[in-house]
Amino acid sequence: ALEIKGLRKSFGPTEVLRGIDLSVAPHEVICLIGASGSGKSTLLRTVNLLEPVSAGDIWLSGQRITAPGIDANRVRQHIGIVFQAFNLFPHMTVLRNVTLGPVKALGVRPAQATEEARSLLTRFGLESKAGEYPDRLSGGQQQRVAIARALAMRPRLLLLDEVTSALDPELVAEVLDVIRELAGSGMTMLIATHEMGFARDIATRVAFLADGQIVEQAPPGELFTEPQDERTQRFLRRIT
Ligand code: ATP
Ligand code: MG
Repeated sequence: ALEIKGLRKSFGPTEVLRGIDLSVAPHEVICLIGASGSGKSTLLRTVNLLEPVSAGDIWLSGQRITAPGIDANRVRQHIGIVFQAFNLFPHMTVLRNVTLGPVKALGVRPAQATEEARSLLTRFGLESKAGEYPDRLSGGQQQRVAIARALAMRPRLLLLDEVTSALDPELVAEVLDVIRELAGSGMTMLIATHEMGFARDIATRVAFLADGQIVEQAPPGELFTEPQDERTQRFLRRIT
């Protein structure tokens, strides 16, 4: 689904990503872990073409999306991204938040978009909130709407950047449950997270990012129990 080769990204003189190679097969769930500032968000943002790359290439379903002249908006229609802050449109109902993209960008008929949005909202336990405005929802509910909104675009790939970090602890579980359900349904995902228990639970592979590179990647059962690189060992020791 996604192939990243030799990806480099600098901000001014600082090189944040220093040669990232990562492949994500269809239906895989990759959790990116690493210290604050290691470049997890930057990596997700370059994949979604929110940041130009300094070197290297990214392919989505075989298409080189870092090629010159590529239509970034077009590419982004196939890649869902959800951030830490909910970013819902405050002046629109939950239902409109979810139907807007499909109607405006994909040309889906409003009646059909509404039907699909209602079914997504039902799937995430939000059917009773369709007519509410975002500020009437809890943080966990808003974040579930944000995920539903991304999914309504029928993305080939979903990027999640610390989607539970801004939530009160008691609201984290309901959002993680939604992501777990998505993983079970075969959604291909690249997830930056500080929740190691969740990564262990959900990831097909965990990739540890440090010094601008993926130092180590392995299934969670291996990476968390027998980390090979000394930097991974130190990171895991520090946070557990
Ligand atoms: P966290 O776990 O805290 O979310 P992260 O792994 O997501 O951290 P990034 O946000 O990707 O880390 O940041 C990586 C580095 O790049 C940091 O040193 C940060 O200061 C720098 N950086 C990120 N975005 C920019 C920008 N737009 N301009 C300049 N520097 C940036
Ligand atoms: Mg980040």
